[in-house]
Amino acid sequence: MDEEAVEDLVIVWQDVLDEIAAGRPDNLRCPYCGRTPLKVETEGRRTRIGCDGCGKYIEGAFGGL
Ligand SMILES: [Zn+2]
Repeated sequence: MDEEAVEDLVIVWQDVLDEIAAGRPDNLRCPYCGRTPLKVETEGRRTRIGCDGCGKYIEGAFGGL
C-alpha cells in the first residue's frame, strides 16, 4: 500500500479514528456500510479496525489508544 492510499484511507476513517482518540471505542460505525460496532484489535503499537459486515479495515499506529 503506498502512502497516498494510506492518506485516502485515513480520510475515510477519520470519524472512527477521532472516536478512538477521544476514548470512545465502543461507538464506532463503519464508514463504508454503516455497520456497528467495529472490531478493534491492538498488537503492540499497531491497531487494526475492521468491519465484519463489508470486510473493510484500516491498520496502523494511531494515537490515543
Ligand atoms: Zn462495513
